[in-house]
Amino acid sequence: MRNYIKHYINGEWVESTGSETEEVINPATEEVIGKISLGTKEDLDKAVKAARDAFPSFSQTTKEERVEMLENIAEEYENRKDEIIETITDELGSPLEISENIHFMMGYNHFSQAAESLKEFSFIEEHGGHTRMKESIGVSGLITPWNFPTNQTSTKIASAFAAGSPVVLKPAELTPFAAVILTEIFDKVGVPKGVFNLVNGSGSVIGDGISSHPDIDFVSFTGSGATGEKIMKNASETIKKVALELGGKSPLVVLDDADVKDAAKAAVTHIATNSGQVCSAATRTLIPSSMKQEFEEEMKKALDEFPVGDPREGNYIGPLVSKKQWDTVQSYIEKGIEEGATMIAGGTGKPDGLDKGYYTKPTIFTDVDNQMVIAQEEIFGPVMTVITYDSIEEALELANETIYGLAGYVYGKDPETLRKVASGIRAGRVKVNDAEADFSSPFGGFKQSGIGREWGDYGIEEYLEVKTILGYPS
Ligand code: ADP
Repeated sequence: MRNYIKHYINGEWVESTGSETEEVINPATEEVIGKISLGTKEDLDKAVKAARDAFPSFSQTTKEERVEMLENIAEEYENRKDEIIETITDELGSPLEISENIHFMMGYNHFSQAAESLKEFSFIEEHGGHTRMKESIGVSGLITPWNFPTNQTSTKIASAFAAGSPVVLKPAELTPFAAVILTEIFDKVGVPKGVFNLVNGSGSVIGDGISSHPDIDFVSFTGSGATGEKIMKNASETIKKVALELGGKSPLVVLDDADVKDAAKAAVTHIATNSGQVCSAATRTLIPSSMKQEFEEEMKKALDEFPVGDPREGNYIGPLVSKKQWDTVQSYIEKGIEEGATMIAGGTGKPDGLDKGYYTKPTIFTDVDNQMVIAQEEIFGPVMTVITYDSIEEALELANETIYGLAGYVYGKDPETLRKVASGIRAGRVKVNDAEADFSSPFGGFKQSGIGREWGDYGIEEYLEVKTILGYPS
């Protein structure tokens, strides 16, 4: 049982000023695995004060000192590898292999990449008639979601540390334990007191408190669009800068010269990975009409390679994170049926033999019209919509006919067409075929997928202010 009822403020674990707690549930077993304290505004005030007090000295540390700190964090993070993997599997229901290869690795990559990007980062630049200085933005408030417990926390924290900005983190209530390990890592490597503060709690108290706090200069949030909207409204009262990484309904455009089997497997991988609880997942697959029958067959076959079940027993798809998320996904599957899409795999209810745990069936809808609710709203579960097109122009129109613009994917062979589609998709990140991940690349969304960029040097920029000096003696 993990009972973490303390917050980490000013370099120590402290009692909450309130007495409310919340249980954390393992979604694979539906059993309680621990609890966290639900912090109060008073706890938050203490954390913000600690960060504010740490600001003058932390913001003046040298680049080399911060590079060393980030490298030490990456090293200690690696030492805690087994615990991180176990913890994420317990709190999120993520299969052990995914917890290791995706969740653990993403956290590691963000800390080590931030160190590398920082080495190359220039905080002072001469521009002819003026000098530009980049300075820490001040105190940053970080609010993170449950679907990637070490990815979103690590990218925000690593960038803030690189920029010299002390932080207050509020992780998601559903998956708060990985952040406790991160806190222990920062404590162990000697992150100066007040530079990192962890306050657990609800979105309505601590999240809301962060976005409206007069002594927080910047809020970086990842989560739902509805919450992002509230945060932006709240932050506007103190003219706080916000970075938002919100939802997506990303297209995967399959070209007519693509290898059908590979592209179909890629599409299924998108809804299978992390049980489809990925903001940048492709959830609309656009295929040439001529490819329809063959593609659908290949998708059905590919599903066999992604078994659903116990995350500790080698399955690729674990449960959804919560009963609430399970209900949401069920209602979208019902909606797809009601809207008249053809369901070629999956359906409502739990997969056979999986009565305990929030498991759902990976579901594929074809004959989908892009205007249907299942093609427009983010479902956040293993549900794919397949839409046909007859020309590249139509494919691009469909790809962009969404309020979102987080990511896009294109599969095919002809370089010119690949370039045309990659350039034509209005999204912050487009992946061509099976291009490898690059943690130095900017990550963030166009349109209602958000504001700002994370990862690498762009991530560091978010936590900085730009100052112009005229006549700076060289
Ligand atoms: P979900 O509904 O999938 O849990 P949210 O966007 O609500 O997604 O949650 C992401 C994060 O935002 C969580 O840490 C949550 O506690 C926090 N949160 C929820 N409501 C608010 C709010 N009003 N202000 C700030 N943060 C919030």
